Amino acid sequence: MKRIALDMDEVIAHVEPKFLDLFESRQGYRPEREAYWGGKIYHLPGGEHLREHLHDPGFFADLPVIPHSQEVVAWLQEHYEVFIVSAAQEFRNSLADKHDWLHRHFPGISWKNFVFCGDKSIIQADYMIDDHAHNLEVFRGKGLLFTAPHNALETRFTRVNNWLEVRDFFVRELAQGGQ
Ligand SMILES: [Mg+2]
Repeated sequence: MKRIALDMDEVIAHVEPKFLDLFESRQGYRPEREAYWGGKIYHLPGGEHLREHLHDPGFFADLPVIPHSQEVVAWLQEHYEVFIVSAAQEFRNSLADKHDWLHRHFPGISWKNFVFCGDKSIIQADYMIDDHAHNLEVFRGKGLLFTAPHNALETRFTRVNNWLEVRDFFVRELAQGGQ
């Protein structure tokens, strides 16, 4: 089976609503998506503190699941080896949270397929699904850019806007013998 390296944050785990909650609790209003489209929420005036929360124990424990990721990942596992590849080492307190989150929301993925790394250029797989262009830049397989506000202006990679588009991409790959 071919291998898929699957990112967590902003691909299967939704960080954006948590950042918005934290922003709102500090600033008293919730920014419109247009205000940070093409950029980061924590680059908005008043958002400077947000990134520090990534180091908080529990920050990653209760993130919402990105819609349709669970059923599409389960279907992908019938045809591909799916590995979770997260640059989690940047945030040491995230490691247990991410492990538990995966077991809770993706019980069909073995811990043997969890890859909590630093620099993703070490990863060798056939496909990578990620919201960060810098991870796809150094990937030697086929990269899919999962749409997030910060990458909205990126044009160098095959883009998937949601998990139904991920499914459609791999339906086409399988039809073309890309199994
Ligand atoms: Mg990510």
